[in-house]
Amino acid sequence: MPPTIASPSTPAPSKNAGWQQRSRRHVWHPCTQSIRLEAVPPLPIARGEGVWLFDHDGRRYLDATSSWWVNLFGHAHPAINAALKDQLDTLSHVMLAGCTHAPAVELAERLAALTGHALGHCFYASDGASAVEIALKMSFHAWRNAGRSGKQNFVALRQGYHGETLGALHVTDVPVFRDAYAPLLAHAHLVASPDARAARPGEDAAAVARRAAAELEALLIERHASIAAVIVEPLVQCATGMAMHAPEYLRLVRALCDRYGVHLIADEIAVGCGRTGSFFACEQAGIWPDFLCLSKGISGGYLPLALVMTRDAIYEGFVDDDAARSFLHSHSYTGNALACRAALATLDLFEREDALRRNRARAERLIDRLREGLHGMPVDHLRQRGMITAFDVCEPGARFAERFHLAARANGLLMRPIGATVYLMPPYAIGDGDIDLLVDGTLATLQAVAAPTDEDHAEGGRDAALA
Ligand SMILES: *Cc1c(COP(=O)(O)O)cnc(C)c1O
Repeated sequence: MPPTIASPSTPAPSKNAGWQQRSRRHVWHPCTQSIRLEAVPPLPIARGEGVWLFDHDGRRYLDATSSWWVNLFGHAHPAINAALKDQLDTLSHVMLAGCTHAPAVELAERLAALTGHALGHCFYASDGASAVEIALKMSFHAWRNAGRSGKQNFVALRQGYHGETLGALHVTDVPVFRDAYAPLLAHAHLVASPDARAARPGEDAAAVARRAAAELEALLIERHASIAAVIVEPLVQCATGMAMHAPEYLRLVRALCDRYGVHLIADEIAVGCGRTGSFFACEQAGIWPDFLCLSKGISGGYLPLALVMTRDAIYEGFVDDDAARSFLHSHSYTGNALACRAALATLDLFEREDALRRNRARAERLIDRLREGLHGMPVDHLRQRGMITAFDVCEPGARFAERFHLAARANGLLMRPIGATVYLMPPYAIGDGDIDLLVDGTLATLQAVAAPTDEDHAEGGRDAALA
């Protein structure tokens, strides 16, 4: 079906404007400097289909960020829709304490199988930050059950992001999210990021990884007795600006955690579910963590769902008559049947569409076309890991992310650079023609915002509001 595009000769009143006004009046928008809402009004989306989102005036936008990294197989996917409609008529929700149901059981079984049963148990939550909280609590509690209650601290990586509840924020190192709340946060040890862009002359990504791991080892030698776990975002630190590292880093960290008796928490909330090329990012390093957090893509981008997978041996350490040795954490919507059913339908699509294999061709086309188009432009560090592609703009000027976002809208793309980093993270449903539209639109947008005006410079201010 061709998109309906408002003809310029018939200037009908915009239906978008009403929603924008009403939204500003009563909706407190996330990750938004409210003062910018006038200059950057929220885009009122009426419906979605595949990789496209349509506003109320019939204009379409390619969802180049997968709606904050959650969407995998496109909007309104017929198979996920059908599964959800069936589930709606069967069971939408029941508490998971004292009850169980097929979608929660089947999802835990299938995910365990995807880890080769290395991670045999699955604890459900509702959003990514809660999954991180659960992993942190479980790690501390597992050590306490083992008679090691002194292990109370966590190690996190510089530039890391793990969500914004207070526990998750204490292991997050992204200043715009963290700084205002710093007085409320527990102490975490921060160690070097293995970000490959930090390579010194003559170093490759693996050398940066070894250097970062050496810093972690120095800390563990000194403090392992008081450290419960190291938390990492495997392969790509997304929220800081798609900082990528060599799989070697994960192998080294796994070995260090084993040597010094510390848990490894893999936060695969953004990088899991095929985003980096394998279903779990950890697979590319040939390791399994002690705790693995999933959310975002697991429900196909349909419903809030998060989970923490762990080893059976860790689970068994909590099986005890003593309530204090049990994990009594609870969320009202834990294991929601609709969300789990959406996840099962999503796992079916991985198999039916051979998604991981077909994504390799998509990713290749995307970076080939982008590399060609960016040739000679003032950009740096073009990089890719699976379905995440990014580059840094050399002289972004003030409010670059906001200006880029607005110019991209005009080009029919929904994009939100992070600082000076432009990234492309489209749904897996994207076809060759739409990949070309995405790359061409990105290049046109870059041209449009390339030369900051004097006014842009004068405005100053921080760019990060568009993470
Ligand atoms: C998005 C994200 C989270 C937080 O998930 P929410 O559902 O937004 O709470 C945690 N960790 C990583 C790596 C993320 O990208």
